[in-house]
Amino acid sequence: MLDYEKMTNLPKQMRQNLAQQFPLTLAKVTHRIKSRDGAVKHLFRADDNALFEAVYLPSRSGSSLCISTQAGCSFHCSFCATGTLGLTRNLLAGEMLHQVYHLANEHGLSSYRVLLMGMGEPLANFKQVVLALKHLVHPDGQACSPRRLTVSTVGLKGGISRLARELPGAGLALSLHFTEDGQRKRHMPMAARLPLSGLFDELVMSEGLGKVTLEYILLDGVNDSLEDAAALASLAYGVVPRQRKTVPPSRLRSRFRGFKSYHINLIEFNPSPVVRFRATPQAEAEKFQNYLKAAGVTATYRRSRGREISAACGMLVAAEPKKK
Ligand code: SF4
Repeated sequence: MLDYEKMTNLPKQMRQNLAQQFPLTLAKVTHRIKSRDGAVKHLFRADDNALFEAVYLPSRSGSSLCISTQAGCSFHCSFCATGTLGLTRNLLAGEMLHQVYHLANEHGLSSYRVLLMGMGEPLANFKQVVLALKHLVHPDGQACSPRRLTVSTVGLKGGISRLARELPGAGLALSLHFTEDGQRKRHMPMAARLPLSGLFDELVMSEGLGKVTLEYILLDGVNDSLEDAAALASLAYGVVPRQRKTVPPSRLRSRFRGFKSYHINLIEFNPSPVVRFRATPQAEAEKFQNYLKAAGVTATYRRSRGREISAACGMLVAAEPKKK
């Protein structure tokens, strides 16, 4: 309920005081656009003009709501259009919940997964993110299973272990994208402050996390060689490779026999006018995926959804359509 005057179970004076002291100023949806595959992108404008986006992703196996945790992002990852915006500000927990409730309401959903994969780095706005997620799992909130929540992060020092403590069972999508510190530093400058050895030590030690996936965007000629695949397979087993070289995948499979491995999501790159990379051609992407499978690692190739409405991964730039 967005109007105190309609809360008629409260005394009139209290309603007036509440309206004065705690004005309800929810962000407005100023634009929505639907893609051929059913994804719908919503653009929110807050009272202070901060813009952020959320995407409804229908699917036969259950719908997902992809929400933003920041308006813009200060991390400047080279392959991500959102990163070109810079940070306007952190979103409040209420603004994250507003995205969830607004989309669920508009699309008539009673059950859904919530993905913190929209604009922003969730762990850079930790307090508000945890507040929002705790509300979703609370019996008096949405009573949502933590397993239906996924936090995407590039990995900030101490953030993953804190998340595991605060929200046991929540899923983690680790945006890895590169298998070597030098490359990460070039393409993900803020993330690379935590070297891969520290990142994987923390990941392995963080008990209580739900499903963990390693996210890997395939960029043509940048991170899609079989040498990269070999290093990625080793990281999937939780081991940072000492040397980078192409080895037969069967050798990795036998070296890591008995090890548990993280699931890998290979992500199709979404071209954007503000980002200079190309997507790995499909045949090459399949070779990369087959190498991982032969090394004993499960890997899914995720085709883009919502691409023609710029709602796919890394494409959210909170732009209002130009007036004709
Ligand atoms: S990938 Fe994530 S952390 Fe990097 S710039 Fe994009 S939104 Fe920010």
